[in-house]
Amino acid sequence: MAELQEVLDEIAFDASVAEDRGLVAQYIPQLAKVEPSQFGISVALTDGRVFSAGDAATGFSIQSVSKVFTLALALGKLGDAVWSSVGREPSGNPFNSIVQLEQEKGRPRNPFINAGAIAVVDLIMAGHQPKEAIGEIVQFIRHLTDDDSILIDQHVARSETDHGDRNASLAHFMRSFGAIDHPVDHVLGVYFHQCAIVMTCQQLARAGLFLANQGRDPVTGAQVVSEQRARRINAIMLMCGHYDGSGEFAFRVGLPGKSGVGGGILAIAPGKASIAVWSPGLDPVGNSKLGSAALEQLARQMEWSVFGA
Ligand code: GLN
Repeated sequence: MAELQEVLDEIAFDASVAEDRGLVAQYIPQLAKVEPSQFGISVALTDGRVFSAGDAATGFSIQSVSKVFTLALALGKLGDAVWSSVGREPSGNPFNSIVQLEQEKGRPRNPFINAGAIAVVDLIMAGHQPKEAIGEIVQFIRHLTDDDSILIDQHVARSETDHGDRNASLAHFMRSFGAIDHPVDHVLGVYFHQCAIVMTCQQLARAGLFLANQGRDPVTGAQVVSEQRARRINAIMLMCGHYDGSGEFAFRVGLPGKSGVGGGILAIAPGKASIAVWSPGLDPVGNSKLGSAALEQLARQMEWSVFGA
């Protein structure tokens, strides 16, 4: 097995000279302004050590990576009742697709497509005002990261609210089936703020560590979710975490992973490490182009694929 820091340095170097970096997300104007030359990677090992390279201390919009944390939060609050609102099958469709919702009567395929994440937000909001629900999500992520400095980028949240017609369509459509309880603008307000949370690769890798360690934070010892639940969240990440690119990601990388249109990816090597990578340029499916390539290189060199070395 290769030396981790050397592998990360090599990956960051390769990223720094890459010519085709993909395209920064255009449909959220605030994200379209992000400088595409940036690249960071951070690996938090279950023994507490952290290794990083590149722009690992630069904050970025975590976007859909947040869906892993809201799923864990909702499961903690409601238990398996979550699964009556949202499924756990890959969609094989883009992250913001509406096509399956009609056939499946407003119950989204999984918690990681936009419709599913919006349904999860609706569950988290039970008994809360939108501001309280946003506060609860941020607090949960701060707790996982062991870092109270994590904030929401209000410009990104506003930018998405102003251009959120597709997500509003998904939410209205679900509500027409009775699949959402709260007013659509409240649910979307919480969802857009959750997506606009800013984290660095170092913070994100730290926050995901419980998923690499059977649901328990190895640094603080806190049991965040049960062992079985951690296994299941990882399974959903593997099958659904990259939308209609999930098969390709499993084929190339072989790790549970969750991407976001900010260019971040959280990947889990069970029993070994939580990995966060960020490069803002996306492939045509909406997953970080260099981030995926970096994880492919890392998993191969460290022999971390869940399918064997
Ligand atoms: N906030 C983004 C949206 O709802 C999240 C999508 C993503 O990261 N894939 O469109």
